Amino acid sequence: MRDVVIIGSGCAGNTAAIYAARANLKPLVVQGHEAGGQLSMTTLVENFPGFPEGINGPELVENMKKQAQNFGAEFLYGSLLEADLSRRPFRLNIEEEWIETRTLIVASGASARWLGLPSEKKLIGHGVSSCATCDGFFYRGRKIMVIGGGDSAMEEANFLSRFGSEVTVVHRRDQFRASKIMLDRARSNPKIKFLINTGVVDVLDPANNLVSSVKLRNLETGAVWEQEVDGFFVAIGHIPNTAVFKGQIETDADGYILSKGGARTNIAGVFHAGDVQDRLYRQAITASGAGCMAAMEAERFLEAEGH
Ligand code: NAP
Repeated sequence: MRDVVIIGSGCAGNTAAIYAARANLKPLVVQGHEAGGQLSMTTLVENFPGFPEGINGPELVENMKKQAQNFGAEFLYGSLLEADLSRRPFRLNIEEEWIETRTLIVASGASARWLGLPSEKKLIGHGVSSCATCDGFFYRGRKIMVIGGGDSAMEEANFLSRFGSEVTVVHRRDQFRASKIMLDRARSNPKIKFLINTGVVDVLDPANNLVSSVKLRNLETGAVWEQEVDGFFVAIGHIPNTAVFKGQIETDADGYILSKGGARTNIAGVFHAGDVQDRLYRQAITASGAGCMAAMEAERFLEAEGH
């Protein structure tokens, strides 16, 4: 029987683990299929307080993990497959092994969103990617396309411009969600070109198991054309990882957990932390703050229950 199980090992989960471990609750962290969360797939983080020169995302999240381990947190490889939250203790199926816990912190984050084209799916890992940091290296001197108009797309385009001969950012509107500083940086990068009001019709060539070109449509004029591309990076946002809790933890229509105040969910003893609930801020620092809140609430809950 565990006091606290934490699902997810990004900023939210790891910070919750630091706080819960320091409260002597010996938390178990289930790392999930994207261990380290989104920071593990990013490069330099310049806005996490305490690092005047910035710090690499993977290093930052690994430091958090070590910090939690130093206080006794345990980390488990694997994912949560099934959960029974209908009564306490909660029952969790982690990689076919059932464990029981008095409280649960859901810090399972959000995963990359795809366009949904059959060709895109077929070519993931063969020229189609959602992670510039992971795959950018393969496109040295090649033509790269990035889809999206948010900070992720700008960050990926800037990062990829170190490798590619050219980077084309394709966005479906003429207004950008990206922050001004990130957009300006991409706009002033001589290797980056923008195609606005443009949609992706298809990614070629699945028959040859590689990306050779992309069919595009101007969404204002309807004109369709093909552009030669070697690497196709999709950066159009994320989907919260809550499918495993469907019908138990209340979410909004997009799957983000509905907060019942603080870190509380609709189930007493189940708390939320980070991007799995937050569609607004979604920053490393806010996720860490949320992890702290969730651990403190779990601690108080256990105390009130006499544990
Ligand atoms: P986002 O801000 O939600 O932007 C997603 C972009 O993808 C939007 O431009 C959207 O277009 C487009 N899009 C969505 N679905 C699409 C589809 N089916 N087809 C074509 N385009 C589609 O997501 P994000 O860029 O991943 O950023 C998420 C959060 O993380 C933000 O808060 C951001 O500030 C933060 N972030 C920060 C940094 C940093 O500070 N270093 C880096 C990355 C991310 P529309 O605009 O038309 O909807």
